[in-house]
Amino acid sequence: MHVFANPVGAGSLWFDNLATADGTPVAYDPQARAFLPMPPFCVNREVIGCNWIAPEQGAFCRSCAMTALAPDTSIPNAMPNWAQTEAAKRWVLDNLGRWHWFRPEDPGTRPVFHMLAEGPTPVPMGHAGGVVTISVAEADPVLSTTRREALEEPYRTMIGHMRHEIAHMLWWRLSLREDFLTAFRTMFGDERVDYPTALERHYHDGPPPGWRASFLTSYASAHPHEDWAETAAHLLHLTDISDSFVAAGLSSPELPSSGWEPYMEPDAERLIHVAASLVAGVNHVNRSMGLSDLYPFVLSETALRKLVFVHGWLRRGAQGL
Ligand SMILES: [Zn+2]
Ligand SMILES: [Zn+2]
Repeated sequence: MHVFANPVGAGSLWFDNLATADGTPVAYDPQARAFLPMPPFCVNREVIGCNWIAPEQGAFCRSCAMTALAPDTSIPNAMPNWAQTEAAKRWVLDNLGRWHWFRPEDPGTRPVFHMLAEGPTPVPMGHAGGVVTISVAEADPVLSTTRREALEEPYRTMIGHMRHEIAHMLWWRLSLREDFLTAFRTMFGDERVDYPTALERHYHDGPPPGWRASFLTSYASAHPHEDWAETAAHLLHLTDISDSFVAAGLSSPELPSSGWEPYMEPDAERLIHVAASLVAGVNHVNRSMGLSDLYPFVLSETALRKLVFVHGWLRRGAQGL
């Protein structure tokens, strides 16, 4: 993620800022990728702290307009959880916008989001026919950690869920093209194998032995759809880590050049190689504060090939190229 210029004074603005350091209200214009000091602000600004501009007074921003179902706010903590969930969504939509997804130049369907609060029973997240369902309860750190431990996942965050579920939607968009499906099945296997049976087997038997040689996560081994979503989420993690690293003014001998733009990099292998070297360094920094690794994953040769494949399609897919 870029770091942004303050439109009314000195200093920088971070993507989630609602005001400058001296208190001037600002809003983010996702089209210009810049902060503005004047309305129209999104109507959700007062409700959930959305900091994007709206096309007109009293309207939703481009991101909030994609939320067709908001959570039942009578459920405890639904409001703050929803606010965090929408913040993660804005971040990922802006990331994907770097590759033209869901911007005006993208002629395809936009995702529709159902943001659901959880009562006593968990809300399954998922994607079907362009609708992305997200459990806003996962924004709660206690619940998220409990599920992370129960499912033996090294990493579980709302931004990760957004990347994973939107990746299913991107697959659906790409699957409308014949050339994608043939290439996808060669790389990931045939996604027409029965999905409920595959998931049941995964949860009952666990991942196949030696799964680390072929998959980024154990869940990716459950079904080609999940392998795609996990791989696409990881490509977004690695690209955005690199982008934020550069935007924050950090340097490394591994960076290809000054002014390098990770989202503009056409060579996926180079991008992933640089990202992997940066995360090794940042993992080390995190350990100095007793925090878990920023990116606790190892990239196998097969995972690298899949990441390269996903990169090619995500970079050009929104433009029909
Ligand atoms: Zn908004
Ligand atoms: Zn999935």
